[in-house]
Amino acid sequence: MSPSGICYLVGAGPGDPDLITVKGRECIRRADVIYYDHLAAAALLAEARADCEKIYVGKEAGDHAVKQDDICELLCATVRAGKAVVRLKGGDPFVFGRGGEEALALAEAGLPFEIVPGVTAGIAGAAYAGIPLTHRKTAVAVTFVTGHEDPTKPESQIRWAELARGGQTLCFYMGTGNLASICERLVQGGRSAAEPVAVIQWATTPRHRTVTGTLTDIAARVEAADLGPPAVIVIGPVVGLREKLAWFERRPLLGKRVLVTRSRLQASELAALLRRRGAEALELPTIRIESCPAIYPRELPQRLRKDPAAAGKLLADCDPLTRALVEQKIGSSYDWVVFTSINGVTETWKRLAELGLDSRTFGGANGAAMGAATAASLAGRGIDPEVAPEQFVAEALFEALSERLGKNLSGSRFLLLRADIARPSLRDLLAGRGAAVDDVTAYHTRPTAACPPAVRDDFVNGKIDAVTFASASTARNFAALLGADLAAMIDGSARPLFFSIGPVTSAALRELDLPVDAEAEPHTIPALVACLEGRAWATT
Ligand code: SAH
Repeated sequence: MSPSGICYLVGAGPGDPDLITVKGRECIRRADVIYYDHLAAAALLAEARADCEKIYVGKEAGDHAVKQDDICELLCATVRAGKAVVRLKGGDPFVFGRGGEEALALAEAGLPFEIVPGVTAGIAGAAYAGIPLTHRKTAVAVTFVTGHEDPTKPESQIRWAELARGGQTLCFYMGTGNLASICERLVQGGRSAAEPVAVIQWATTPRHRTVTGTLTDIAARVEAADLGPPAVIVIGPVVGLREKLAWFERRPLLGKRVLVTRSRLQASELAALLRRRGAEALELPTIRIESCPAIYPRELPQRLRKDPAAAGKLLADCDPLTRALVEQKIGSSYDWVVFTSINGVTETWKRLAELGLDSRTFGGANGAAMGAATAASLAGRGIDPEVAPEQFVAEALFEALSERLGKNLSGSRFLLLRADIARPSLRDLLAGRGAAVDDVTAYHTRPTAACPPAVRDDFVNGKIDAVTFASASTARNFAALLGADLAAMIDGSARPLFFSIGPVTSAALRELDLPVDAEAEPHTIPALVACLEGRAWATT
């Protein structure tokens, strides 16, 4: 066995990826191999290294994809092979997760392991539903019980009569299928038929729903609400406290499914704000990034290495990006190199690498970055930008540069490495002050060719409540992406509401024969979110 082999049994938490522990996330980031099951959030797997092997060993439709014994075997074999293994389990690994069996297998094989606890569904579900599991005077104990056993079966290991006694909160896992008989047994055992019950499904996720009732009527209510697994059942007087404490479900956009048409950086800010307000934000990229064609004589990289001065003679046959980078390398032709997006940084370094160059190419120049993310991306490549306004607008960058350099820019040479559709304003502002500016396209933005089938299905089936548009170009790209389906859907009864960031975007929507249900005022992302919140949703 290699000394580095180890298995971490990691609790992934109840569903919201932010509810994993810091230690659990560290383990995922370092893992060579991750074995996960169906309750593990995709966002957590995305934290893993690109070369980490991710293997699904969960159960689907009641069948175990991989048998428990085989999972134990797999864990042991992978640790023996010297790998850092993460066994990622929903909630807490030692609460109804068979983590005990896996830890025992490792212990018996003499293999190293650690347990990283997680927030178990019962605790998380109750917290998000506004139910304190214990409460002074009303609930002095809480019991976690499996609801998997059919209480009517004589071989049940659960001591129902004891559970039925008062003074404790009961929290059942895996119990929705047996809900009616669980309630019956408890009433038979002496619990009041009027005892409050909450069933909490998909706790902490955007699909979170709670149904409440009493031991008498909860089964019928759950059926009427079409609530199924995964859900936890909380029984006891504490359930009544949720009338005052149900904070999560009171968030203004809870359960709303909002499609965010993506225009570069704006989308992630918008999606994050919507999620914080309780919505499920589905991101639809309407633009993809394409590298500029690299055109240069084949001998250029070698020439740059061996005889840089001679490389200058090849420049006439190069594409503009290559030419600008080589000129900077061999002649330090620019004083300032300006990046206005992460994509610009990524594409520039891709081209540098292709040419056998690196960050030293910009050694003689100052760097400028628009927006904090762009600056961070540059810093990651060893360039600390001299000028880096946080705001993601060209005017802010220009202001910051003027502050630094004064009003007169004559004699300063700028290289802008930007998208093909970048607005001309930055170039014009700089040139207006006398600077020499080369505005070079570092990448192309193209409309996405196809709409992901899942998004299209949701649309056609009326499962999207709202669509947001933060620019005219995304409105046009969106219409192109959905094509004929869009017209059919707009005419349907369950159409989503359309939200626009401002008049230019609204005009583009109307031109495309699309509705505008509300327009943000002022024309900012937070105002757009406020617009969704202020909307009466009764129609959808
Ligand atoms: N180890 C897990 C439990 C696994 S058993 C934990 O500690 O949470 C699977 C059961 O957990 C489900 O049947 C359901 O009762 C509960 N569960 C898991 N995730 C849940 C969620 N997001 N909302 C409600 N119940 C959940």
